[in-house]
Amino acid sequence: LMMIGWCGVAQEMSPLYKDKNAGIEERIEDLIPRMTLEEKILQMNQWTYGKNANPNNIEASMKKVRPEIGSLIYRSTNPKYRNQIQAKAMNESRLGIPIIFGFDAIHGYKTVFPIPLAQACSWDTALVRQSCAISARECWLSGVDWTFSPMVDVARDARWGRVAEGYGEDPYTNAAFAVAAVQGYQGDNLAGKYTIAACLKHYIGYSLSEGGRDYHYSDVSDQTLWETFMPPYEAGVKAGAVTLMSAFNDISGVPASANYYTLTQVLKEQWGHTGFVVSDWGSIENLIPQGVAADRKEAAQKAFLSGVEMDMVDDVYVENLPKLVEEGKVPMSAIDEAVRRILRVKMQLGLFDQPYVDDIPDEQRYLLPSDLELAEKIATESMVLLKNENQTLPLNPKWKKLAVIGPMVKDSVNLMGSWEGMGEAQHVRTIYDGLLNEFSAKAKLLYSKGCDFEGNDTSGFKEALVNAKSADAVLLFLGEKKKWSGENGTRSTLALPSIQEELLKTLKSSGKPIILVLSSGRPIEMIRMEPLADAILEIWQPGTMGGPAVAGILSGRSNPSGKLSITFPRTTGQIPMYYNMRRPARYMGYYQDIDKEPMYWLGHGLSYTQFSHGSIQLSSSKISKSEKIIARIKVTNTGDGDGKETLLWYVSDPVATISRPIKEIKYFQKKLIAKGESEIYEFEIDPMRDLSYFDKTGERHLEPGEFILRVGDQKVTFELTD
Ligand code: BGC
Repeated sequence: LMMIGWCGVAQEMSPLYKDKNAGIEERIEDLIPRMTLEEKILQMNQWTYGKNANPNNIEASMKKVRPEIGSLIYRSTNPKYRNQIQAKAMNESRLGIPIIFGFDAIHGYKTVFPIPLAQACSWDTALVRQSCAISARECWLSGVDWTFSPMVDVARDARWGRVAEGYGEDPYTNAAFAVAAVQGYQGDNLAGKYTIAACLKHYIGYSLSEGGRDYHYSDVSDQTLWETFMPPYEAGVKAGAVTLMSAFNDISGVPASANYYTLTQVLKEQWGHTGFVVSDWGSIENLIPQGVAADRKEAAQKAFLSGVEMDMVDDVYVENLPKLVEEGKVPMSAIDEAVRRILRVKMQLGLFDQPYVDDIPDEQRYLLPSDLELAEKIATESMVLLKNENQTLPLNPKWKKLAVIGPMVKDSVNLMGSWEGMGEAQHVRTIYDGLLNEFSAKAKLLYSKGCDFEGNDTSGFKEALVNAKSADAVLLFLGEKKKWSGENGTRSTLALPSIQEELLKTLKSSGKPIILVLSSGRPIEMIRMEPLADAILEIWQPGTMGGPAVAGILSGRSNPSGKLSITFPRTTGQIPMYYNMRRPARYMGYYQDIDKEPMYWLGHGLSYTQFSHGSIQLSSSKISKSEKIIARIKVTNTGDGDGKETLLWYVSDPVATISRPIKEIKYFQKKLIAKGESEIYEFEIDPMRDLSYFDKTGERHLEPGEFILRVGDQKVTFELTD
């Protein structure tokens, strides 16, 4: 809107980029030419409390925050601070460009949900979407616009601590939950209240860090890149994820944060992503130790020209891009394009028009009864009953004395898992709380800690054994501390510290039924423990409502329905061990000293009821490439109670131009089946989507021939014609 002032000079009333009725692209194109190079480059930087600010002295901190900064990592639950900082950006910068505030809400913010690896064991995408929506609301009401989640790195080496943060070992499953998480965070209206930007991470190949060592390099073949790692990212991008984070690792020699192929050719050109990529924490500067940049300047140049638009905390962009532009090493058009992408996300979030968030009392923001209810539900559905000999579980109502033992029983910190957001131990319902509530009217609980998570103090064993002997059954709660998984949580073994295994052995001598409950951020090596337990329940790191969820399963109030999203190797030395391996030349013993099978495959998980599977019915057993097959199977609940059954539909291509995995999940479905009732499960096979494969260039091939479809304990073959 221009107005000719009284002296004849053109004056602008309100620039187009501030007009909320104008189109986003128009607004961006109006804004960019107004920006100085410095203002543009500041948009491409993210600062954080800790480095640039002091969370205890917001006034002092704010002085350090430049009002032109593009983004801040915001670690405060107080929306006042966010609004104050934002006001500074809006009012004290020349152009009034809002800051985007980011934070790691990985599995919840204040209400902590189970770790993502556990969430995937629920096989319920709707639940995951809902939990992400709750997290988004809590974030938004705290001043967070953007979460660095979901992590969709397909993970097959559980020594790597970050297996906890993703959805397990299967590409399709990671893709399905990537979509659910993006939808949950971003909602239908990203510009509205309570929705935040998602960030797919860590693009890409990070989970293949050699030997599971965090921050190491990844040797990813092109075939594996496309077949295993790309699908969840592609699905997340198609679902509308507005940002991605570039990973620390190199990909067969080319760091993920300086990888033109993955960041520009695939992401931007092939998939058409219009948002932006933020580096991981320091991953641009890391190009120096990785040996592809001589100094910070070269690191900035490489990362930027590869397609990383925002520099997380390194300050390499602010420091070096002005000079690089001046020297002609970085074209101005590339700077404009990067800024355009960042501004686009800010516009999409509605930050220009609604830069501030509501400030409402805590009890209206956090831990609402309905949030806690969902947290308990998803915790329950993600727990996996691994073993249940002689129907040891649910606990026999005749058992009036239960020995409750282990370092996990009264724990509240570790139950949250790593990346607990702003979750607080004081809000966690411990296992002990849960058991007291569930059983106090029915049975006496004899508590003893037994031992600590690690160390060699066995002095508590004696009391634990006395309790075990005087009880009807032993509930033993073992597991991992939260720091043992998550970032930099690599372990050389999946076994629990020997003191915990020793405690189990000692209690076994009581002769009482042993119910082993494990809380962990990864699969646990159970070769020595499994034979000693009558029942085993994996509860992962279940979050705020972990206690009541566990107690509900133990009592039988809830029927377990989780199935593993990741394989449990028999021993650590068996790694890598995942269900969708490629076909070996000979499927022999593999190792002479142990069984060739893992302890539990992905998909394993028991229920208190039984399900019987009918045979698979196909709408046709021969189709052309343009036709579809409808596959149906009837599942009947033949047991004693209602229960949920998840079916994983696997496809195999026995003969193809390249060797294909033995089987691959192409669809899954979970349904509640009442006692004595049946449900029909249905999967529509779309040849291009479900029967084709990627080659190493990312091209899809669909080859005619025989295919095998497996579901439950059933199997059929069908043919694809030319
Ligand atoms: C982690 C990311 C995280 C980032 C910001 C990094 O060290 O690798 O997953 O989002 O820090 O906290």
